[in-house]
Amino acid sequence: MKIRLLGGWYQPDLGPPAEAHLELTSKCNLSCRFCYRRSWSEELGEMELQHLKAALRELHEAGVKVLWLSGYGEPTYYTHFQEAVDQASRWFKLGLVTNGTMLEEYSKLIAEKIRWVVVSIESFTSLYQELREGASLAKVREGMRSIMEAASSAGRTPAIWISMILMKSNLSELPSSIEEASKSGAIGVILSNLIPTSEAMASQVLYGSDPDSKVHEVLHEARRKAIVHNLRIVEPEFKYRTGTGRYCPFIENNALVVNWDTSVSPCLMLSHTYGMWLDGRRRTVKRAAFGSIAEKPLKDIWSTESYVKFRVLVKLGQFPSCNDCQHEEYCAFFETTEHDCWGNSPSCASCLYYRRIVQCPMRYLVEHVRLIREYP
Ligand code: SF4
Ligand code: SF4
Ligand code: SF4
Repeated sequence: MKIRLLGGWYQPDLGPPAEAHLELTSKCNLSCRFCYRRSWSEELGEMELQHLKAALRELHEAGVKVLWLSGYGEPTYYTHFQEAVDQASRWFKLGLVTNGTMLEEYSKLIAEKIRWVVVSIESFTSLYQELREGASLAKVREGMRSIMEAASSAGRTPAIWISMILMKSNLSELPSSIEEASKSGAIGVILSNLIPTSEAMASQVLYGSDPDSKVHEVLHEARRKAIVHNLRIVEPEFKYRTGTGRYCPFIENNALVVNWDTSVSPCLMLSHTYGMWLDGRRRTVKRAAFGSIAEKPLKDIWSTESYVKFRVLVKLGQFPSCNDCQHEEYCAFFETTEHDCWGNSPSCASCLYYRRIVQCPMRYLVEHVRLIREYP
């Protein structure tokens, strides 16, 4: 296949998908203050068992090697979570992205079959409860402890990571959170930034053209704590760099997303329709899907010309850059991800993953980890 691009022809990389995020359900047992689902009008649902089996087979046959049980709901809240893990572990290196509230219930299963467990915790103080309505931090910590015990009885070492969204309210706690994460048995912390889904949350962001001045001071102290406690920190960017330097973690790693309703999206950012506040304006993220595995084999969806072309455009950075554009304040294209001023659809022109402001668990972030104590 050749792609017509910039007046010439481009030979795309047609290698298979290597990594995927599978959304088992968009339902959740919590109602966090910053949850994307608060700005949805989508119906919530979970993957039917027959679709789960088909999705796992399709992902395997398409060449996927690493599978994350993640998405915009809580995977452990899925009715068929046990079946999903049992079946998926036959074919994939498995990762789980979870709010951690149900870890105890599944500790043996998780300890034996899941390689990376990424638990979302924004704070180890009373702020945790404020941010994550309905959750108990003590229960989450107990769950992590039970996974470590189960793993140790099975002769395994679990790779537990904490995923933490940074915002104004929890920034100053970061150094002490690093200590707490280490005490909880985590080997690393993936830091990310907030995508505000309400106007009230918009004032909480730390990034932009002129990021919050406290960020670097706090990060410096957090790095020091991480060294002392043998913990790895994966940091995001905070400043919009002009024009270049964009890197899409999904497209660059041949990753994709299968949603609970079997639709296939290129990334988590575009896997649902929701509202967000960016640079002082509301915009609508529109779901982008290139097919459904209930209707077409995943291999065929992956090699659909429109999907291949989209990946080429992302890899080559063929999108304008809204975050540092002088027209951002009033441009009508900016209101949704449907189009941009270069005629792309969907558009990645203002994506925060593309600028590494926001990051999510991916193999390249968690696999090649060397703890500091391992260095000579
Ligand atoms: S745990 Fe995740 S999916 Fe559930 S409410 Fe919180 S942010 Fe949303
Ligand atoms: S879509 Fe609008 S805001 Fe974005 S780069 Fe183009 S003109 Fe600027
Ligand atoms: S750049 Fe952003 S919107 Fe575009 S594919 Fe990557 S994550 Fe999705």
